[in-house]
Amino acid sequence: LSEKLSGIFDTLTRRGALTEADVNVALREVRRALLEADVALEVVRSFTDKVKAAAVGANVVKSVTPGQMVVKIVHDQLVEMLGTEAVPISLDSLPPVAILMVGLQGSGKTTTTAKIARRLTDKEKRKVLLASLDTRRPAAMEQLAVLAKQVGVDALPIVAGQSAVQIARRAMEAARLGGYDVVMLDTAGRVTIDEALMAEVAQVKAATDPHEVLLVADSLTGQDAVNTARAFDSRLGVTGIVLTRMDGDGRGGAALSMRAVTGKPIKLVGTGEKIDALEDFHPRRVANRILGMGDIVSLVEKASETLDAEKALRMAEKMRKGSFDLNDLRDQISQMERIGGMKGVLGMMPGVAKMKNQLDNANLDDRVLKRQKAIIDSMTPQERRAPDVLKASRKKRIAAGSGTRVEDVNRLLKMHRQMADVMKAMGKGGRGGIAGALGN
Ligand code: GDP
Ligand code: MG
Repeated sequence: LSEKLSGIFDTLTRRGALTEADVNVALREVRRALLEADVALEVVRSFTDKVKAAAVGANVVKSVTPGQMVVKIVHDQLVEMLGTEAVPISLDSLPPVAILMVGLQGSGKTTTTAKIARRLTDKEKRKVLLASLDTRRPAAMEQLAVLAKQVGVDALPIVAGQSAVQIARRAMEAARLGGYDVVMLDTAGRVTIDEALMAEVAQVKAATDPHEVLLVADSLTGQDAVNTARAFDSRLGVTGIVLTRMDGDGRGGAALSMRAVTGKPIKLVGTGEKIDALEDFHPRRVANRILGMGDIVSLVEKASETLDAEKALRMAEKMRKGSFDLNDLRDQISQMERIGGMKGVLGMMPGVAKMKNQLDNANLDDRVLKRQKAIIDSMTPQERRAPDVLKASRKKRIAAGSGTRVEDVNRLLKMHRQMADVMKAMGKGGRGGIAGALGN
């Protein structure tokens, strides 16, 4: 998509602001990409309206083509619509906290129930009880019991002949007596939405007062996603969505559709049949997937869109001259924040994800970036230009001003010195930037 858009705009002369005609041309391609990604028609419409409102009249940043500009606006709007903040499962209630799992048959409820149980047990050290309310398929209860054993959590003993509501009540009672933190209620599904099923789940909800009602939905669903999400949400008051089969070849359109229709956050995604194939939802990744941008392509593009090319030019000049000062370091840190932090950037590169532990140890998280910026902000202009003047008393003042310690100030100065050296060495035409300097 991004290539097509750039192509369209390369034929247009550059101008200061995007006109409605420019945007309309681009939006035709966007619409096609969204439909290919299986975003529901009504959502495509409301989304393109939104993009149009944001794009017409927007200034094309110098050094970025209008095509790239539209891609960036589309991407930003997508991320915003998908939800920029991660919303975790909430257990913020009196135990035992009930989590009700709902969704169509085969969407992955039972598997996801076990996956979440494992996460809550391992990561959050909660005591979890699983209960299957699926009275329709004889094997369903057994399936959950097997999975429970596999994850090492307890399953409510099966008693034949009870209704879903009766089982749910029994589960809550057992959890209270047994001192469980969480009760996960895995409900039955139907191939299509039907009233009997909805009524049954509504009754269970009334009987157990769940803190979370999670709609489990297959990300390969396509156009039906909207109807499914709307039906479950309006009847049961969904609190969050879990998208399964994100490992499949779907483009993630269902994520956008469901989120747009319900306004409820996508909390987790399932990425495989294995019990540990459960991940947090990353709106940026899904936005890239919907737009059909390869991860690497998007990395380059995001960077080139975000980095002010003029600054980059000035930077290159400074590198050549070897005069990379703390103002420049601050710019670089801001750029890194904008493109999602070092980890975000590295995380998108193939093979690097496996090095996650090393990355975590490398102190590259966003808090560190913020702290580094605060330190520089507490310096005088003269100090930023010529850090050599920084002696003990000034460092103390800067540490106090930025809420850090003198060691932090020293560490930043050391990093700056190293970078300036590396850049000087690379100055004759190597790749620049903080990533190059740090990527030893
Ligand atoms: P339920 O009817 O909603 O309880 O669905 P199940 O949990 O029984 O899952 C139906 C099938 O989907 C099973 O074969 C699961 O292994 C599979 N499944 C569930 N989640 C995922 C996922 O994230 N990725 C893949 N590839 N398969 C999944
Ligand atoms: Mg099931």
